[in-house]
Amino acid sequence: MKRFAWTQPTSLASAAAFAETTVADAMVALRPDTHAGHGAVLQAGGIDNLDLMKEELLQPNLVISLRAIPGLDKIEKQEASWRIGAGTTLMAVAGHPAVQARFPALATCLNQSGSPQIRAVATLGGNLLQRPRCWYFRSIAFDCLRKGGGHCFAILGENAYHAVFDNEVCAIVHPSSVATVLVALGASVELTGPNGATRRLLLEDFLVRPKQNVRRENDLQPREILTAILLPNPSASVRMAYLRLGEKQAFDWPLVDAAVILELDASSVCRQGVICLGAVAPTPYRPRAAEATLAGKVIDVPTARSAARTALDGAMPLAHNEFKLPLIETVLRRAILRAANPV
Ligand SMILES: Cc1cc2nc3c(=O)[nH]c(=O)nc-3n(C[C@H](O)[C@H](O)[C@H](O)COP(=O)(O)OP(=O)(O)OC[C@H]3O[C@@H](n4cnc5c(N)ncnc54)[C@H](O)[C@@H]3O)c2cc1C
Ligand code: SF4
Repeated sequence: MKRFAWTQPTSLASAAAFAETTVADAMVALRPDTHAGHGAVLQAGGIDNLDLMKEELLQPNLVISLRAIPGLDKIEKQEASWRIGAGTTLMAVAGHPAVQARFPALATCLNQSGSPQIRAVATLGGNLLQRPRCWYFRSIAFDCLRKGGGHCFAILGENAYHAVFDNEVCAIVHPSSVATVLVALGASVELTGPNGATRRLLLEDFLVRPKQNVRRENDLQPREILTAILLPNPSASVRMAYLRLGEKQAFDWPLVDAAVILELDASSVCRQGVICLGAVAPTPYRPRAAEATLAGKVIDVPTARSAARTALDGAMPLAHNEFKLPLIETVLRRAILRAANPV
């Protein structure tokens, strides 16, 4: 790991003033021919940043810790939403009574992400902004498109863990399984600039597809801090579930995961269904045709099976990841049924 300076500001304004670059830009600036430290980058729990720094994929001159800024770890009820501070740890979010009561799918997902040690340190904001797990991206030996190079090594290479949708330019899967649930729940992000001005946008719109920009996964700007995640308060008729399938039950990212949100009427007919699939595309993936099949139906096995099959429309598996298609069908069918009939 290269030497770096460290600062721990106690206000958002001073942290934003220091944060002259994003991690994505700093990694692109670190071209193989320069080998010089680049920029000042923000750090929350440090789980992902330190991995990148140990591999020398990220070599900042200055690390700006967000951990001493008061209020970034608050969870509070607002008029029509819940506001979760971006600095709240995954463990604190999962353990909050309001999250368990109103957003059980989010609590389930958080409790299955990483390990207890990771969840005690990692923050919700850092989780959404973590960088992809593509093994070519994580190796200094491969100067791929996402790091500013000219080639994607995965599309014709070792792509077992890669995307089956939207994979023509870069085939990463979005690394945050928490984002799978948050997108399904209609979450928004709040971003604060150095002058205190905030902007809010749907998380779904904040996340960037490779065709928009292959060098970043989100629209975070230099000198901007993710301050909160806002979750619309679900009505009493909403049911939800989150399920994942993976090689291990803990301490690993999923091979495929699914979040399902159903709004049911008094006769258990589905008014609206929202589906989000994770680990299948560079951004959390909404199979809208499958969502449409749920509306107006009682959620039973044939309905769930048909929606899960429809969700595969448009899939373009690569040489080594066709095995994900039956996993998607299975995890989604089960998640739809679990949402309709919680255990
Ligand atoms: C073994 C293992 C298993 C894992 N399993 C899962 C899993 O199943 N699902 C899953 O979703 N994740 C998983 N993770 C990833 C882990 O949850 C993330 O690495 C962690 O949440 C990152 O949070 P952090 O606070 O440590 O972020 P940091 O490493 O501190 O930062 C990550 C990025 O976010 C930026 N950043 C952080 N906070 C802010 C902010 N408030 N404003 C602006 N920029 C900010 C940093 O600059 C950096 O770019 C796993 C990790 C490991 C090591
Ligand atoms: S999938 Fe994306 S991150 Fe991986 S090698 Fe290709 S361009 Fe790089």
